[in-house]
Amino acid sequence: MKLICSSCGINVAGQEEFVIFKCPNCGEGTIIRCRKCKKLSRPYKCDVCNFEGP
Ligand SMILES: [Zn+2]
Ligand SMILES: [Zn+2]
Repeated sequence: MKLICSSCGINVAGQEEFVIFKCPNCGEGTIIRCRKCKKLSRPYKCDVCNFEGP
């Protein structure tokens, strides 16, 4: 699967710290956030249901 930050689009595959979790709204989409976006609490968007949130 692709490891792309849902907020900034960076490839997190080589990064040591990132978070990956299921969309809290639909439970289907996978949200990935790089360390920077997590720290800055940038918004993300679910590909499946278009849910937006931190
Ligand atoms: Zn990011
Ligand atoms: Zn969703």
